[in-house]
Parts: sequence; C-alpha cells; structure tokens
Amino acid sequence: MLKITGQSISSELAIGTIRYYRQMKNIIGDAVASDPDAELARYRSAYRKCMDQLQQLYTNTLQQLSAREAGIFEMHRMLLADSQFHNAIEAAIAQEQKTAEYAVYSVGQKLWERFAAMDDPYLRERGADIQDVMNRLLSVLSGKNESALDQITEPFIVMAQDLSPGETVQMNTSRLLGFITCQGSPYSHTAILAKTMGIPALMHIDIDENWDGHLAIIDGKNQCLYIDPDEPLIREYQTKINSDRKKREALQAILHLPAVTRDGHEVKLYANINTPSDMDAAIRQGAEGIGLFRSEFLYLNAQEYPDEEVQYSIYRSVLERMPDRHIVIRTLDLGTDKKSPYLALEPEDNPALGYRAIRICLNQPELFKVQLRALLRAAAHGSLHILLPMIISVREIRQTRELLETCKKELAEKGTPFGDPVLGVMIETPAAVLVADELAAEADFFSIGTNDLAQYTMALDRNNARLHTFYDPHHPALLRLIGMTAEAAHRHNIPVCICGESGADLTLTKTFLSMGIDALSVAPGALLPLKKSIREMTLAADNA
Ligand code: PEP
Ligand code: MG
Repeated sequence: MLKITGQSISSELAIGTIRYYRQMKNIIGDAVASDPDAELARYRSAYRKCMDQLQQLYTNTLQQLSAREAGIFEMHRMLLADSQFHNAIEAAIAQEQKTAEYAVYSVGQKLWERFAAMDDPYLRERGADIQDVMNRLLSVLSGKNESALDQITEPFIVMAQDLSPGETVQMNTSRLLGFITCQGSPYSHTAILAKTMGIPALMHIDIDENWDGHLAIIDGKNQCLYIDPDEPLIREYQTKINSDRKKREALQAILHLPAVTRDGHEVKLYANINTPSDMDAAIRQGAEGIGLFRSEFLYLNAQEYPDEEVQYSIYRSVLERMPDRHIVIRTLDLGTDKKSPYLALEPEDNPALGYRAIRICLNQPELFKVQLRALLRAAAHGSLHILLPMIISVREIRQTRELLETCKKELAEKGTPFGDPVLGVMIETPAAVLVADELAAEADFFSIGTNDLAQYTMALDRNNARLHTFYDPHHPALLRLIGMTAEAAHRHNIPVCICGESGADLTLTKTFLSMGIDALSVAPGALLPLKKSIREMTLAADNA
C-alpha cells in the first residue's frame, strides 16, 4: 500500500480502479497524411479491430453482468458501423489527405457537438457514446488500447498528467469517480468542473503509469491518495463514504426551504453550470436559479464556432428547464486556459492579462453578434440575464449595448421574435471595483468573480499549482474589494451576487452576508451545505 499527498479541491472521497488517460493531443499528432492510402488501410484495420473488441465486450458483459450493460457495446457497434460516420472518416483521409487519427478525431468531434447541443437529454447522452467510440478508434490507432476508458463497465478514477477544461468537460461523467493529476490547481477551470460534477480531484500528484488498473482511494479531506489500499482501510473508507451519503440525504429536508438566517436575513442561492446537462444537478439540489452559465464550455472543443441556431437552442433549453427562474448566461469567456481551435488565438507572454473574454468579443463584433442574437432570441423564453466577463470600463458595457441594439434591429427586420434581457457585469478585476459606481450606473446587476478577482488583486496565477500557499481567499485586500463592490451596487439599487469559488466557502459566508451580498452562486453540490450553514447563522449579533 502506498500513501501520497497532493492538493485537493474538495472534501469528497472515492474508492475505485485507476485508469490512465493519455491526452488526445499526444495521440492525434500531425493532421496531414504523407501516404493517404496507407492511412486508409490503418483506419480500416482499426475499424475491424474495434468491431471485434466490441463484439467480445458484448459477449463478456452479457455473461458477467446483464443485457442492459451489454447493450451499451451493441449500441457502440451500431455507431461505429453508421455509414455517415464511417464514410466521413474515409473521405477525410482519402480526399482531404488527413491522417487516420486526425480524421477520426475531427469527424467524431463534429458529431459530438451536434448531439451535445440537442434538447432531448437522451440524445444529449448519446454524445458521450460517440466520444467513447471515437476514443476506442484512437486508442487502437495509437496502439495504446489497453487504457481505453470506455472498455470499463465499473466506475473508475481518471489519472492524467494534466486535464484541460475542454477534455474534462467532455468526460463521460456517469462512471467517473474522481481525478488524479500531476498538474493543475484548485482554482483552475478543470478543478471547477470537478466540483460541478461533485467528484474529488487530487492535483500535484507525481503520477505513475504503472498504477493503471490498480485500486485507489482518494481522500479529499486529508488531501491524500492510497494506491493498493488494504482491506481494513477499504472498509474504513466505505463506512466514511456511506456516512457522507447519509449526511447528504439528510440535507434533503431543507431542499425547498429558503436560505434565511435565524434573524431573518435572506439570500438567493443559485447554481453555477458549465453545460446544459448540469441543470439536472442544479434542479435536484434546489437551486433558485442559475447564477452563472459559463457558455464558453460548450464551444471549447468545437471544430468551428457554433452558429446562431445551435446557440439559441442551447440557451433556450436552459431557460425552459427552469421556467420563470433567474437565469444568468455569461458571454464567451475564452482565452488563457480555455482555447478553441477555430479562434486561432496566438500564444501570449501573459495570457491571463491578454486577449480573452469581452476583449475577444468586442474586437470581433461579428462573432459576438452571433451569440448576442442567439441570447436575445432565447430571452423570449424566460428571465434571461446576460453577464459580461472581464469588464474594466463602462466603454465595454456601452459597446455591448450598442451591439445588442443592432442585433435587435436585425432580428426585427427578419421578423424573428426576441426578448428583452437585462445586462450585468462581472466584477473580477480591481479596475472594475474602483469604477464600480460608474459601472453600476450602466449595468443592471453585478456578479463578483472571486477566482479572477483574487488572481488579479494578489498577482497570483490561478492555474499555477506552486502558488497555492500564497493564495488566500481571506486576504483583507480581496474582502475589502468585495465590500466596496457591494456598497457601490446598493448605492445604485442593483443586486450583487458572488459567483466565484469563495461563494461556497462556509468560512466566508457570514462576512459576505454582513456585507449585504444579495445572492451566492455555487456548484450544485455545494448548495445544500451552504443553505444549512446560512439557516443556522445569526447575523445581527455579529453586526452589533
Ligand atoms: C471567477 O473568475 O470567479 C469566475 C466566476 O469566472 P471563471 O472562474 O470562469 O473565470
Ligand atoms: Mg473569471
């Protein structure tokens, strides 16, 4: 048995088999094939091997488990044999002269994007199956099929050198127990995604490929990992996991109760979501609305910028899942660690200070207008709040309002119905706090992004794991900036929410409520513990 310490993002626990995930970028390699005939032959051979593997898996699973589990592999065989999928890959190799890996990846990704954007949850789920099939082909092509995650029917822990936000968001969450990575930091988007999924992640672990297939325990509370744990330890952790589950179940008692302190101070509790499928967890955990939908996650791995129709149907589906509730959709916050191939962002010396978020959108208004038109149309179906990221000046709000007016005109000319969303700004730079009065005069609401506000206030790169001992969510500078933002918002009678990770930090809740913060928006799994803590709190005694 081996015990290793790392850096944890939450107090969750997990027991399961480790599966080593090799990053796609290492598998795909060059896009252009030097010998397309040879590539075609490689693809056809991989295709046959995958068909055989799936047949074998079907038979084994049928014998060992049930027809239901085995059916997954039957469905994967059908997806693999689908003539549209198969022909598109062959055409990419033979006509566009792409390598087999690149052709499989690009065709698979495009198909996944189409499914991921569908309204029907059953069809959306099929997107994960397409990924499984694509990964199987890629694993066979690269000769590394021993680690294909989709060959595993039991839940597993993913081990990887690093995971980009794009890779994480595409993982099939139904069998995922946790992450172990070498790189990463608790404030990175990958960590935020793990929190939204409600699973533990241990970072800064010196991973070993030989652990692939071994049993492990992740202890998020004590920030450690056990490889090949012995029986008594497994039993001890199983008991802890059961007791955590019971505590979570007990929280259901407050599901429909408001987040109000003992002395009557009420706040709104919203959920942060990264994809429409996170809505299920948000509703299950009693969210009063969506305080932050990070829209950019939908487009991270897309081969091309999703068009207006695709965006409209996604935003509309989110609004329709929670009719009449407060829904905040943030406009694209790409850049730094969130890169999309179609934007062709150039490498930068200081990406966090660079070309990201609203800066990309205002520099490329035609691209921004696609999202704004889609949002305006979706606003006809609910209470939509548009949120602008990385704001530093009123100029950015004004320019966005002008673009919104142009978009409204364009839609009206075509006779396309649209609604009237409100427009808010993220307060995540010290500049925004210092001009908060001016911003509040022009915006309809504020949402404080403490992840970036901390990064820019303390000059600490949120993605750099080595800086975590310096990172202090209680830093007086940060708390003062949050207090100043709340005061400015209230001077102008607009509401202020906290949607960064500090919103779920129970050691800060009282401070935030005392500052007059109107709402907290957190990962779905953090909603009920936060509500419990608020309902047990008395503010007046503290203020006295
Ligand atoms: C933040 O910066 O706190 C925030 C909520 O946005 P993101 O984490 O997506 O940058
Ligand atoms: Mg941010």
